[in-house]
Amino acid sequence: MFAALRPNILSRAAAVQTRPIMSRLYTTGSGNSSLLVVEHRNGAVDGATLNALTAAQKLGGDITALVAGGAPENVAKEIAKYGGITKVLVAKDDAYAHSLPETLAPLLVEAQKKLGFSHVFAGHTAFGKNVLPRVAALLDVAAISDITGIESEDTFVRPIYAGNAIATVKSSDKVKIITVRGTAFPAATTIQNSPSEEAAPDAEKTALSEWVGEELIKSDRPDLNSAKRVISGGRGMKNGENFQMLYDLADKMDAAVGASRAAVDAGYVDNSLQIGQTGKIVAPELYIAVGISGAIQHLAGMKDSKTIVAINKDAEAPIFQVADYGLVEDLFKAVPEMTQKL
Ligand SMILES: Cc1cc2nc3c(=O)[nH]c(=O)nc-3n(C[C@H](O)[C@H](O)[C@H](O)COP(=O)(O)OP(=O)(O)OC[C@H]3O[C@@H](n4cnc5c(N)ncnc54)[C@H](O)[C@@H]3O)c2cc1C
Repeated sequence: MFAALRPNILSRAAAVQTRPIMSRLYTTGSGNSSLLVVEHRNGAVDGATLNALTAAQKLGGDITALVAGGAPENVAKEIAKYGGITKVLVAKDDAYAHSLPETLAPLLVEAQKKLGFSHVFAGHTAFGKNVLPRVAALLDVAAISDITGIESEDTFVRPIYAGNAIATVKSSDKVKIITVRGTAFPAATTIQNSPSEEAAPDAEKTALSEWVGEELIKSDRPDLNSAKRVISGGRGMKNGENFQMLYDLADKMDAAVGASRAAVDAGYVDNSLQIGQTGKIVAPELYIAVGISGAIQHLAGMKDSKTIVAINKDAEAPIFQVADYGLVEDLFKAVPEMTQKL
């Protein structure tokens, strides 16, 4: 049914070339001392923090985890089990209950000033992207975002131009403030570890912003960030109701459902599903793009997937240039057929 295609465009090649860099082990600096900012929700450590921890481990040196929250005790206990962590700083205060960046940034700055970390790491998530640039600004240093590799203690690898070029950046700042692309580093694993635990330094609680409430989308499907299989729909789906076809297929495959920005902007699905430069970055074992043309901004979010399958009725669609398998077909015929056969 599918024709095998050769992934031959620059962007796919560039992404693949980063792999040898990422797989090197850097235990450069016993003098390094990293602060890992722990993101958590409902009493559990967020997966992106474990990817950021692996980056900190590769750098080498001491790693202090900072857990802030209204009731951070369980998260502090959980993160303490992971390898490489030498100390856990706990900031318990209702002001930290909802991870507001305006409140967290002064805390991190205070911890950095008192304890003199050489590096501060967080996941490149909405949380990390919200908090760390503020910390960098307050410390008057550059923020180094979305790294995919560590060359040495001052040199890092990061994609630019929506992943079409890979930059190697060197920072001469005293402290490096870094967010880590989750798909570039495997999640850290637990070991028998017993780091010390102490209270984080006191910091001013600003009243610049206030948490009012949140509306969360609840789903029993696998989380997009960690799913092994992802099926995404684009403008070709025509409307939101038609996404049910993708949910039916996803249910058969234990897959998460994603979308292009065009599908999100047209209101077919919620923007938590958006994949790409301004959405989520995923690298599942299998990515199926349905009715998606393959704009570079979309590829930026999925081209590191292990196997890419494209279904599109236009044989000239750019998505076929990055696809390992392509099906030139009307999606309204192909998707129900696949679901039925599975
Ligand atoms: C700054 C910036 C940031 C952006 N960030 C993102 C981002 O994060 N993520 C993102 O996705 N985009 C992003 N975009 C938008 C991006 O440029 C494209 O506009 C968008 O990805 C197009 O989405 P699409 O492929 O679904 O739609 P289209 O480009 O319209 O493609 C629809 C495809 O569906 C196919 N199709 C139609 N009907 C059928 C059918 N019945 N059967 C099979 N195939 C069919 C068509 O042949 C076509 O190839 C960004 C743009 C900018 C400028």
